[in-house]
Amino acid sequence: MQQIKLTGFSTALFSSWYFLEEYGILFDAGDGVTAHLLQKAGKIRHIFISHADRDHITGLLQLLQLNGHAGNLRVYYPKDSGSFPYLKDFSEKFDPHVPPSTWIPLDDETEIEIKQNLFVRAFRNEHIPVEQHIIKSLSFELFRRKRKLKAEFQGRSGKEIEQLRHQHGQEYITYSLKENLLFYSADTPVDDYSKWENANILIHEATFLNQEGVLDLAKFGKHSVLKNVLKMAAEVQPKALVLGHFSKRYSDEIIIEETQKWVEEYQLQFPIYWVLPGKVNYNILQL
Ligand SMILES: [Zn+2]
Repeated sequence: MQQIKLTGFSTALFSSWYFLEEYGILFDAGDGVTAHLLQKAGKIRHIFISHADRDHITGLLQLLQLNGHAGNLRVYYPKDSGSFPYLKDFSEKFDPHVPPSTWIPLDDETEIEIKQNLFVRAFRNEHIPVEQHIIKSLSFELFRRKRKLKAEFQGRSGKEIEQLRHQHGQEYITYSLKENLLFYSADTPVDDYSKWENANILIHEATFLNQEGVLDLAKFGKHSVLKNVLKMAAEVQPKALVLGHFSKRYSDEIIIEETQKWVEEYQLQFPIYWVLPGKVNYNILQL
């Protein structure tokens, strides 16, 4: 497994954020993100917001105010969410002493190059029930793009390869390969398993422990039930699974007990980590 230092807080209705320290990436910016990361929040450069529910965005104002001085923060958001242009406008007027950050609307399947060969891909999810072409809720993938030597050129000497590259170009002798580092489901029901193919680390929400909570669509939008997440993970086989966004109605003990029940049922072998309600987890993958 590719290890990633991961800090996060994720409790349904209250706040969600995940910080990938070595990449300067923040997925969602719920309340308390700056207060808990303190000076480490200064490492954030790319803020990917999955959707405009308040528990995913209300930490943004303070984050931009405290860390936006170099004018090098980027805020990415689902292109059809009307809240973000308002928030941008408000933030710029409220804190005129801070240079404006760059706000970038994301469509389904937009890829953002974070640094050379390292990308974040946004893709649509079903949390907010809107027509297919409307983008109001996103999941994200962090991945690396590598170039590999085509099979027919393997075994050739370095000099020969260099000559071929010189004559025909990079594309001729190599092909592009994608390596997943991490998926972040954000808020979403479990649907198409193939979204999470070749997952290294999969962060998936599991708002409810049983079906009863799912019915409250107007309050919560569409969410996942723990059992369905683990059933999906049994198929997908990520290298590691992080579960978060639990409803505060469940105790830590019940969440862990319920997870272990399905781990046995589905005979899951990969490690599972929890981001339990109301707690900041500073080292989610226990590195
Ligand atoms: Zn949420």
